[in-house]
Parts: sequence; structure tokens; C-alpha cells
Amino acid sequence: MIQESIERPPEAVPKGPFINSGSAGNLERGRHDLAAEHSNAIADDESRGPAAEGVSGSGNGAPEGARSQPRTGGQSAQADPKPVGSFVRRTLGAVGPTLVLLGFAAVFYFGHSNDWRIPKFASVIGTATPESDDWCADHSVPASICVECNTGLMPPDEDFGWCNLHGVHNCVLDHPELAEANTLPSAEQLQDDRRRAETALAMSVRQENNSRCTLYQNRIQFASIQSVEQAGVDIGLVQRDQIIEAVRGNGELVYDPTRTATIAARVPGSVSAVEKNIGDFVRKGELLALVDATAVGKIKSELMRALAEEVLQQKNVTRLEDTRGAVAGARIIEAEAAFAKARAGVLNAEQAIRNLGLPIDAGNFRGMNEQQAIEKLRLLGIPKTYQANIDDLTASTNLLPVVAPMSGTIVDRSVNLGEVVDPTMRLFEIADTSRMWLNLSLPLESIDKLSVGQEIRFTPDGSGRVIEATLDWISTGADQHTRMIDVRATLDNSDGRLRDRTFGTGKVILRDAADATAVPADATHWEGCCNVVFVRDKQYFSSPESPKVFHVRSVRLGATYQGKTEVIAGLLPGEVIAVEGSDVLRAQLLKNGLGAGCCVEE
Ligand SMILES: [Zn+2]
Ligand SMILES: [Zn+2]
Ligand SMILES: [Zn+2]
Repeated sequence: MIQESIERPPEAVPKGPFINSGSAGNLERGRHDLAAEHSNAIADDESRGPAAEGVSGSGNGAPEGARSQPRTGGQSAQADPKPVGSFVRRTLGAVGPTLVLLGFAAVFYFGHSNDWRIPKFASVIGTATPESDDWCADHSVPASICVECNTGLMPPDEDFGWCNLHGVHNCVLDHPELAEANTLPSAEQLQDDRRRAETALAMSVRQENNSRCTLYQNRIQFASIQSVEQAGVDIGLVQRDQIIEAVRGNGELVYDPTRTATIAARVPGSVSAVEKNIGDFVRKGELLALVDATAVGKIKSELMRALAEEVLQQKNVTRLEDTRGAVAGARIIEAEAAFAKARAGVLNAEQAIRNLGLPIDAGNFRGMNEQQAIEKLRLLGIPKTYQANIDDLTASTNLLPVVAPMSGTIVDRSVNLGEVVDPTMRLFEIADTSRMWLNLSLPLESIDKLSVGQEIRFTPDGSGRVIEATLDWISTGADQHTRMIDVRATLDNSDGRLRDRTFGTGKVILRDAADATAVPADATHWEGCCNVVFVRDKQYFSSPESPKVFHVRSVRLGATYQGKTEVIAGLLPGEVIAVEGSDVLRAQLLKNGLGAGCCVEE
């Protein structure tokens, strides 16, 4: 129990009236039950017994076990390792048998003198004057201590009403003095809390409380601390906790497609050499394979013929010009036209070779003899480092080198030596694996919360590893079929640990609040128009007579993360709220008609 650890050290358990009266109450009940077992005369009283107990426990959930336990150990019904319980239990254990005997005597005397009628439980436990009609039926506590009926006992705090900024009533962010905590956050912390609330409210649509709701004005009182415990109300401290708000979706890791290349042979042919394999790292221009393609030989021959034709036509022009005067001008013009045509033929052949991906400058071939030109054309495009591997005598002029268009790793190879290939076949795929794309599909409704620069955390399927990235692209439209929005992050993979086509789940971090105010998720209740929590009064332990009161507080809820719900506004760290068994408080709220505000009208 947090209450002892934070407010009441176990060794300091007082022997105050509320302890004594509680044990007296249980003892009395024990005596009464024992008497009932031994006397038919009080049979009609037995039927009133549970009612009396119900009254004592604020009508709710006095543990069933309390009556089924051995009578002498009635206290053990509170099988709860609380120091209070164990103290009483130890005491009772020691003096139990004596007490039982005394109990018989007392019950006999008591019953006799009361005409075998049991008084109201509240009067027995001593929290009230021992008149049997000291009971406030409206508020389920002894009338003499009822804070609602005796306004002087606990005057309500000033009512600041609705806070438009934070959407709660009696806003503790703006009026921290209203908080039921003995130590309040510092002014700087409150400033941080208000800033955090602003961010959280601006980020997305949060469930709204009804400003006209009056639930927050209610207080639920218990007759004693024991009544609270018997009702099963467990409390927890409002604390600071990390709340992460994120948009989640499925995703895939792929090689950066702007840095991948698919390689095919540009003309049909048969593969005469394969130089690289999957996984090999290649540099731009490096030879991957050689394809023997007749089309290549044909285009090279075309260039040779065009070059020869160009030489011939040029000679013709020169010759005619030398004999100017002896020939008609028309013949010179004719020859010049033929020369220009031959030149164009060279250019055409040059372009055709370039279209095969081979680097060539036809100008370099002018002035070469035929043998030199053929040799040069034969090895055209084949990297110098590889040229030595080619057998001068047997190699054809048909060789088309397939080279890497970019540096990267060969991630796919679908070609074998001797295979006949054509331009539609993919021979190799090269990827720059040092960069990858993370593609995530996110719900369309999250689009307003997304922005470039947000952090993404991605967990590949079957891996505990979390990959962090930065959102750098958001699609401008939704997917036609899935109605999802695609977003992307670019990842560094220079260590090569990421794998292509890895599926997994990712989340875009919208907000990571390290010091949010958080409570267990089931401590809050939607009451039809307001989210409420039950806050324990700060005077709860100040004295045995101090009213045992829980205040109803409207709260504005944020995200839920790992079982904790963020309270954007409505609670301050250090306050104590009902965590478990708060259904009892809700029931009390309804039963007493306290919630006769907007929530229960319809
Ligand atoms: Zn009352
Ligand atoms: Zn406020
Ligand atoms: Zn309401």
C-alpha cells in the first residue's frame, strides 16, 4: 500500500480510535455471529446483521469472507499484509481465546440489555455518537460526521468552475492550491506541465469533457479508513512517467531504388564470359560479362566501311580541287556532296556503336591503318585490365562488354556462361546497399499529425532490434486500395546490417514526453460526459477524525502508453487517487444520486 509508505510509516501506526474502533467493530460482529449460532432467540437479528455491516462499509462490498472466516480470527478476513492489519492480527492472535470467552459474556450481557437488538454498526465502531439513528442515508455515513450535511466539517474548496484552456473543472494546472497533495510541484515544473499540456492538446483531438458537468463538485465519504479498505478501494500515487505518442503501421526495408541498377545486354547474343557473382562489390565501369553478339560485329564493320568511304570521298574531292579549271565546277560540287554523305555515314556508325553502350570517338580512327583500327574496335569497351585475358587470335569482333553502370553490390545475377540472352532479360542487379529506404504505411487519419523530420522507430519482424530513422518523405495521396498513407525514411547501412525486403512494424513518434503526469489506465472513468478520477483528500490521515473523503475530479486524458494513461490536465503529481475498486466509488456516486448532473439525466 502506498498510503503507508508515503504518509504513514508502518512503525508509526497509531493506536488511534479508528484502529481500535475498527477492531472493535469486527469483534462485535464476531460476537454477534457466535451468539447467532447459539441462540434462536436472535434469529431475526441475524437477518439484520449484514444490513448493519453494509451500513458500516458504506454499503459496498464488505468482503464476503469476513463472515465465513473462523470467528476468533475475524480480523484475518482482511488478508492483507498491511501493517495495520498485521498489527491487529498479532494482537488478536495472542489474546484470541481470552477474547472469545469474554465475548460470550459480553454478548450475553449486551444482547440482554439491548433486548437482543443489534445497534447500527456505525455507533458500535465509535466513529459516531452511539445513537442508533445516527445515519445519513443520502451519503451513507453517520450523520454526525457527514461532510455534506455538516458543512462546517469540511467546507468545499473555492469553485473555479470550467477551464476553457485545459478542458477540466477546477483546473489544478492553473490553481495548484486546489490539488489534494501536501507538496506541490515547483513553479517551474508547473510551467513545464502547462507547456506539455499545450503541446499535447494541440497535437491531436482529445476526448472532450462537458463544461456543464457537475460531477466534479461531488465528494464521496467513508465512515472510516477500514470502510475504505473493506470496500476494496486501493490507491495509487499520481506520478511522472514517460508517455510516447506514436502512429503505428507496417513497413518494409528496401534498397534505395534510386541507387539500384538493372543490367541487360543491349543486343541479343550468347554469353561468352561471366566475371562477377552475387555479393561481389563492383566499381562503376567494371566488367560483369561478355556477350558475343553478331549485331556488334556488324555495326563495327559498318564503321570500318564508313571510314573507308570517307577517306575515298575525301581523296576524290582533293584530286578534283587540284585539277580545278580542267574539270567542271559541277563535278567538284558533286564530289563534295559525296564526301559529306560519307562523313555522315561515319557519324551514323559511331552513334550506332555508342547506342550499344560502347565508348567511341571516330576521330581517333582517322589516320589509323586498317589493322590498327580492327584491333581497336575488337577490344572496344572492354576494360584495359581485362584485355589481356582475351585471346588475340580467336576472339571475335562481336564482343559486347556488359559493365557496371554504378558502384555497388551485385544483389542479383541471372545469367550463366553460354546462355543466349536478349535485351529483355535482366542479367545483373546492382544496389548501393549503404543506403536503404524504410517504407511505412500509416492510417490516413494520421496525416495531420505527420511531418518531415519526425523520428521513426522500426522493428523488423522476428527481431528485437529497433532501427531509428528520420521521416523524410510523405506521399501526397493515399493508396487507392488500402487507404493508407506511405511515408519513407532513408537509412544509413554502411555497416551492411540491414537487409533488403525486410518486413516489420514501425511507429512515427509524434511526442515523447518524459515527465508526463500519468496514472494507471483503469483508474480513470468516462462517466458519459466527463472523464473522472477519485482523488483522496489531503487531510485523510491528518487525524482519526478527519473526514475520509474522495473528491471527484474531471480530467483531460492524453495517450495511453504501456498501461499508463497520460492526464493532460486535472491531476498533479503527488496526489493520491483510487486505482482499484474505484467502481465502488462510482457506484456510490450513482447510488447517492450525487451525479444528478448532465451525466445521468438521460
Ligand atoms: Zn449527509
Ligand atoms: Zn486550466
Ligand atoms: Zn456530467
